[in-house]
Amino acid sequence: MAHVINSNCINCDVCVEECGPRAIFPGPEIYVIDPAVCNDCRDSSDFPECVEVCPVDCILPAGKVSTPINIEVLKEQGKERLRLEEARKPGPVIAKIEQPFGVSPPIVHCPICGQAAIIVEDHVALTNPCPHLAFIFVGEVGEFEYRSPDFMARTTDQVGEATTITDEDDEGDYDDDDIFLTVDNFPELLRKAGYDNSFLALEITYSGMACGPIGSTDIYGYDYALIESDDGQG
Ligand code: SF4
Ligand code: SF4
Repeated sequence: MAHVINSNCINCDVCVEECGPRAIFPGPEIYVIDPAVCNDCRDSSDFPECVEVCPVDCILPAGKVSTPINIEVLKEQGKERLRLEEARKPGPVIAKIEQPFGVSPPIVHCPICGQAAIIVEDHVALTNPCPHLAFIFVGEVGEFEYRSPDFMARTTDQVGEATTITDEDDEGDYDDDDIFLTVDNFPELLRKAGYDNSFLALEITYSGMACGPIGSTDIYGYDYALIESDDGQG
């Protein structure tokens, strides 16, 4: 007989994992049950598992709701809906600070806990990460000075994909598989890593004279979502 989901569905997603035969999928507007796959949980339970967990009681035995459906079309429309929803999510916040020519870059302090990201000892700059610091990127060399374990785990695949150096950029200084980031890569990199607007990237641009005018942009990434896990209170 199969079960069906009616229009009261709030897209909470909790029923999907409960369905052993994997009959439930996101449709173009709400979740949908494939009637060819749903077996009413006859082989696993005395009751329909999805019905038990649905917070709005919108899953009903078929026959109570009329649903002429084309499953393959609905699955494609559902994928497109999820893709659009993902694209509309607010992305990381990037704050840009431009130092006047010849003024040294500031030592950045965490906007959450106040700890300096870098300390200088005996004229040597050392990273000094607090729990909220996700990364320090040094534009002059196009590399990370620091990456937190969480940031590493989220970006390992993407760093290679987004930033493997191209032949045009390579003037012989790099091997074929060297990774070289540019400042422009960051919005996409952070979004793909799953960071939303609880992530702050401080982009600091500075310039001065050496053998001629030189400029660089460093980026410090801070994850405000980690405030919750720090004190356990949310
Ligand atoms: S009744 Fe059982 S098999 Fe059918 S959709 Fe719900 S959980 Fe899946
Ligand atoms: S549990 Fe109910 S409201 Fe949530 S997605 Fe499934 S059918 Fe929709």
